[in-house]
Amino acid sequence: MISFSRFRLNSILINSKVPSKNRFPQIIIRPLFLLLMSVFLKTSVNAYTIIIDPGHGGNDKGAVYGPAQESHIVFDISKALKKLLEENHYTVTMTRQKDQFVSLQKRVEVSQNQSADLFVSLHANASEDKRARGIEFFLQAPQNSNSFVHKVSKTDSMLFNNSIENEQASLSKKEDIKKIVSELAQNIKIKRSLLLSSQLKKELPGVIKQAPFYVLTKTEVPSVLIEVGFLSHPKENKKLLTKTYQSEVAQKIFSSLQRFSAKSEFQGNSLDEKAEIPR
Ligand SMILES: [Zn+2]
Repeated sequence: MISFSRFRLNSILINSKVPSKNRFPQIIIRPLFLLLMSVFLKTSVNAYTIIIDPGHGGNDKGAVYGPAQESHIVFDISKALKKLLEENHYTVTMTRQKDQFVSLQKRVEVSQNQSADLFVSLHANASEDKRARGIEFFLQAPQNSNSFVHKVSKTDSMLFNNSIENEQASLSKKEDIKKIVSELAQNIKIKRSLLLSSQLKKELPGVIKQAPFYVLTKTEVPSVLIEVGFLSHPKENKKLLTKTYQSEVAQKIFSSLQRFSAKSEFQGNSLDEKAEIPR
């Protein structure tokens, strides 16, 4: 989206040589140029729009273990992440503004209405196995894949996209160009979502998985659903309740998004980076 990178700006500034006898105009022109470019860059960077989707809300509390409630924890992390992004001139919209119920469809509509560049959904995990722990990054499963559902054992199963099977059936007519184009676009989206997850994994050690979550399948931009930890694990439960850890998670997600967006913009949306879809 940004057509004029900060790096290119620096090279122009460094390479702009004015003969010494013309120093006076440079004294005026250089600050003016910097001022104009800072306004231009601010406007451009603001054009990068990120949707933060704090899971659950209102009567839908998500996982609840003792004092730890998923909808509250992910909302607090989302707010901290929004603050960091806005301080760095990103445009940010949250799919819910308070402890309220918002349908999955509405969350996807927020992304579409805002012409988002990225969609980040935040959840906290839970399992009957009290030993289960760690962070998980979910990306959309490929449309023709049917081998992923068993890999997901969690309370968020109700968030799955129920229309997957119908989509698979309708994809049998390969002559339908619209479907093929849509499939290709989805594959590019999945690949970019994988790169996004890979950036996140560099900051927050975790596992990358695929699942047909509604908000991942229905959004049209690179998207990831982050399970920030298991509330069913006693130690992670306590940690996720602390403001310190919530800020740390927000900071690390922020750093990853910043790197991902910079790569996307400054390297022409390159998909050359090696990253494999988990099996
Ligand atoms: Zn959840």
